[in-house]
Amino acid sequence: MPKDVYDLTDLRDWQAVTAEGQPPIRVAVFGDPVAHSASPPMHNAALEALGIPSRYARVQVKPDELAEALQLLRAGNFVGVNLTIPHKAAAPGLIDEVDEHAQTLGAVNTISVDGQRLRGFNTDGPGFVRAIRADFSVDVRDLRIMILGAGGGAGRGIAVQCALERCERLVLVNRTFAKGALLRDELSSRMSGPELLGPVERLEAVPWERDAIQRQLENVDLLVNATSVGMKFSDPPLLPGVLLPPHLLVYDTVYSSGRTRLLQNAAEAGARGANGLSMLLHQGALSFEIWFGREAPLDVMRTALNDAVG
Ligand code: NAP
Repeated sequence: MPKDVYDLTDLRDWQAVTAEGQPPIRVAVFGDPVAHSASPPMHNAALEALGIPSRYARVQVKPDELAEALQLLRAGNFVGVNLTIPHKAAAPGLIDEVDEHAQTLGAVNTISVDGQRLRGFNTDGPGFVRAIRADFSVDVRDLRIMILGAGGGAGRGIAVQCALERCERLVLVNRTFAKGALLRDELSSRMSGPELLGPVERLEAVPWERDAIQRQLENVDLLVNATSVGMKFSDPPLLPGVLLPPHLLVYDTVYSSGRTRLLQNAAEAGARGANGLSMLLHQGALSFEIWFGREAPLDVMRTALNDAVG
């Protein structure tokens, strides 16, 4: 019987454990926890639509099991895996090659098994860029961006990607201010250059304080929520709705089928918003293309994601 979630013990005897299921599982997501992951329905729909004889599964892998789990990929005849919480930062030290982009981000979310070599990539940042383009018809490089939760895993990845794109302005906000300040120092060389913005800094870390955020929003086009606040609708509002000006684009990385409270506040303020489903979709599509060298069927994947999350 195919399982909802496999584990390291299964990986050790993968061919035997999965012998009954067809087509064979050749792609997976490793995480801890992993049971909630929406990636399997999205990828399985794509595999089926393109007639690729493979399935995608969830594998529960604890942090101290990651090295062994990755080494078992070759024997298991895997094409590749995604990595999710908490494995992205540990992976670069455990595989054979890390592409330059993932090295800069310091995190790998996609591994491909290329002969005997495990090669690492990061599609989260590029997935964010594609999501912004798809949702708002604008390029990240043309935007002044504020990231709430810039010191967390997702926030850091998005901030580094925005700096790599050389966005017009980047404002880093984190509840623990020191993490935002450290990231500002890391990114300063990438965000230097001609000062086009008048009195405001091109790259800033600001404390999580209402007045400081309100002042900064006057010079921001895109607000990104990369905190974990909003995953439950009962969560307290991230920012008072009155702080959101109508010109703002609001992207909430929290993915849900409907509006988060932040997006509801944005809509009430007359601002445009989008939720994190599009980032999940585009990072998944990019992983798919790395593994199978074919264009991912976005519409099929989007429908499967909406069904899974909704
Ligand atoms: P993480 O590494 O644990 O980071 C959590 C972040 O949230 C930190 O910056 C933390 O600030 C901040 N935070 C937590 N509680 C807060 C509060 N009450 N007030 C203000 N800030 C608070 O988590 P993560 O993996 O980056 O995930 C963060 C979010 O990104 C989640 O909502 C997740 O769903 C989303 N995400 C979406 C996608 C996608 O594809 N759409 C992909 C990955 C993640 P401190 O540093 O002060 O603790």
